[in-house]
Amino acid sequence: MLADARIVLREQFLKADVGITGANFLIAETGQTVIVTNEGNGDLTQLLPRVHIALAGIEKVVPTLEDTMTIMRVLARSATGQEMSSYTTFSAGGRRKGDLDGPEAFHVVLLDNGRSKLLGSPTEDILRCIRCGCCLNACPVYGKIGGHAYGSTYSGPVGAVLTPSLAGLSEAHHLPNASSLCGRCEEVCPMRIPIPKMLRHFREEEVASGMAPASARRGIALWAWFASRPGLYRTMTSLTTGVLSLFGRKRGRFSSLPMAGAWTATRDLASPQGKSFQSQWARRSKS
Ligand code: SF4
Repeated sequence: MLADARIVLREQFLKADVGITGANFLIAETGQTVIVTNEGNGDLTQLLPRVHIALAGIEKVVPTLEDTMTIMRVLARSATGQEMSSYTTFSAGGRRKGDLDGPEAFHVVLLDNGRSKLLGSPTEDILRCIRCGCCLNACPVYGKIGGHAYGSTYSGPVGAVLTPSLAGLSEAHHLPNASSLCGRCEEVCPMRIPIPKMLRHFREEEVASGMAPASARRGIALWAWFASRPGLYRTMTSLTTGVLSLFGRKRGRFSSLPMAGAWTATRDLASPQGKSFQSQWARRSKS
């Protein structure tokens, strides 16, 4: 397969008039674009065709070469655990007289597409993202459902913030809810982006703007009512857990359940196993 791909694709690269790449970084100080890959596909695209167009979001602009080197140190380590990616290419323009290769013309297109509107907003920190994918690897939700479920280019925790930020909350208000808010994404993020805080912001906005389904709003209001009455909350949760574990003992899961139809329509609900967290906590605190 590799040999075939080489034969077929090399020819295409050599014949192409224009190669369009993204850029991992755009260095303001030197005017260079930087591409980091492990496959060399970016290099074939930018070196072999007659014209190279680098199309990148404005957040890819980094002030200096030194800043770029600092960020590059964390990029490969957070993405694939490598010290350095296989190919890191700095481009500073088209082919000069005497150069052996390179495009005849070189253009950089800066894409805003909603990014500058994020400046000063509660989700502006997401513009620091270097797309290392580390938060995806750490996310238990992404690990279970995979990337396609997020319905856009960016998946996982970063996608759950970036997609509603760029496309608008009305287009993607379900994404910030696809999180257990465990905080692992923020813990592993090399750029220290507070993703859970931004997911909470979108959830608040979703409820405030009336986008959240009425059933979800009623459910949360009910939960809040119980949660502010600890005695009643403990009694109700231990009763519910007891009943569910009794009826779910045989199969270990429910394929349908009253008031949980939205959940069980597409997957089973696991029945509670063992003691609740509250009762285990109380028992351990005593011993
Ligand atoms: S949010 Fe952080 S961990 Fe996730 S892709 Fe961006 S830089 Fe990497």
